[in-house]
Amino acid sequence: MINRILKIDLTKKKAEVYSDEKLYEDFLGGTGVATKLLYDHHIENIDPLSPESPIILSIGPLNGIYPIATKTIAMFKSPLTGNLGESHAGGRLFMSMYDANLSAIIITGKLDMPSYIAIENEELRFVPANSIWGQSASATERILRSAEKGIGKRSIIRIGPAGENLSLMANVAVDTGRHFGRLGLGAVMGSKNLKAIVISGNYRHKMENFAEFNKIYNEIFWTAVKSPAMKKYHNLGTPQNVLPLNKINSLPTRNFSQGFFEGAEFLSGENLAKNYLAQQIACANCPVGCIHLGTLREAFEDSTHFKTFKIPYDYEPIYAMGTNLSINDPNALFKLLNTVEKVGWDVMETGVTLSWATEAFEKGLIGTNQTDGLILNFGDAETYQKVLAYMKENKNEFFNDLNKGSAYCAEKYGGKEFAINFGKNGSPGYITGRDAFLGFLMGVRHSHLDSAGYSIDEKIISGDLNADPAEEIDMLINEEEWRFILNSLTICLFARKIYTEDLVLRALKSVGINKTSEDLKNTAQKIHALKYKIKIDNGFDLNSLNFPEKLFNVQTGRGKMNKAIVQEMIKTYTNRIKSLVETLAQ
Ligand code: SF4
Repeated sequence: MINRILKIDLTKKKAEVYSDEKLYEDFLGGTGVATKLLYDHHIENIDPLSPESPIILSIGPLNGIYPIATKTIAMFKSPLTGNLGESHAGGRLFMSMYDANLSAIIITGKLDMPSYIAIENEELRFVPANSIWGQSASATERILRSAEKGIGKRSIIRIGPAGENLSLMANVAVDTGRHFGRLGLGAVMGSKNLKAIVISGNYRHKMENFAEFNKIYNEIFWTAVKSPAMKKYHNLGTPQNVLPLNKINSLPTRNFSQGFFEGAEFLSGENLAKNYLAQQIACANCPVGCIHLGTLREAFEDSTHFKTFKIPYDYEPIYAMGTNLSINDPNALFKLLNTVEKVGWDVMETGVTLSWATEAFEKGLIGTNQTDGLILNFGDAETYQKVLAYMKENKNEFFNDLNKGSAYCAEKYGGKEFAINFGKNGSPGYITGRDAFLGFLMGVRHSHLDSAGYSIDEKIISGDLNADPAEEIDMLINEEEWRFILNSLTICLFARKIYTEDLVLRALKSVGINKTSEDLKNTAQKIHALKYKIKIDNGFDLNSLNFPEKLFNVQTGRGKMNKAIVQEMIKTYTNRIKSLVETLAQ
């Protein structure tokens, strides 16, 4: 198992590698190790966009070894929420770090001019990037692909103009079609004058117990290839969710006004695959290949010549820039996604902010004075394109504010009750019921991937599960804590049904890590407590949590929520978290 951490000081342009065996023994890797490293940086005293603000990239002990262990965890202080920032990305980054024999990278400081870092094994070069500063995330990748050949499997992560302009919802693009999408990591990179990181390596790791490795590898590989659970991701990808969610009234439409979108058929995985799919690709070491790229043809001015773009489309972007803005034309949706991708915004926060702005415009909280004459209407893709263009150039105070996300805008202009964010992070695309929202509210990242409450709602809707509020809270917490283990091993969560506890224990043993079921449980709880300690230290107030008021008035997949029950559940959940955090002091 690798436990080599590369520490980079951008101000001094210096780097060192150190090992920390105990850190990896205690926290496994991935999110566990990154959480401890972030905690040790005492981010409560740090401005997220200051040179001291750390960026931590972390992989786990199964990366580079077993299939679908493909994620890299990024941890930082989020400029969007002012709190714990955590985002996960696939692609090739984990593989390049593994081949460079690095399990984590910590970056602090600030470069004296726009630059990128080229890492080859543990050798570093700081390369001026004035000529690519201002380029889109996609163009930057193309340029660096030819400029930096690397010494093995190479990964390129970079920001677009949004990150350079310190938009609080800027993302980081990773290789092709993958991102550190959420919570504003792009702005943290931009604040450091860091345009991109190119990493490659050619270290060859030895496998001690080859026979056991081979057995487990084949077991995972063939389950992934044959299992119906993974077929869904391979065939239509996550857009397969569009129609089933619409059917159970759970597809957010027009800023979460309802769960049924009349144009769902057009944006369905089925329609996109049939009429728009250009290519499917995979993260390194994954036989599933769920990344779907659609075709967008755009005419040049003479309209007889065209340029063709390949647009990555997943369920969440379809919800955020499609159904929730009432856009039903796939071409219009792809055009919006292409702009968001090039500028380098978090597509979910962008969609939630635009949907808040549209409702705020409808209700008269903002007007044409703010929008520079634009009339915002759900379904008007052309105007949304103009809004994105104005946001990119920070045309006036209002468009500059949109770059700060929905929570900031609602605080300034009003409409908090319909700014659908949790912990200041724009909502994921589920309106299934209270467990989805409770998971977004209480999950450490405010993400649908924290505890998948939507899945509990779906089972209750279908009649496959009968649970009372206390059991629902147990399920949410247990799921989140198990995911801390998967995220410490940086398994793609789409493979969570393959990586059962038994398989995880065997896979760990095969790489020399002997753990019991009890050990994993204790580690997960420790990670959970530490993450919440960071959140509380950074001002996350456990005593004033609630859902955006609008959600109590809409029909979810499970019907209208009972506010009294929900508030009681929030109270119980909060007390569980408080007592968990207290265990850290013991
Ligand atoms: S299932 Fe999709 S996201 Fe997960 S590792 Fe494979 S290609 Fe990447």
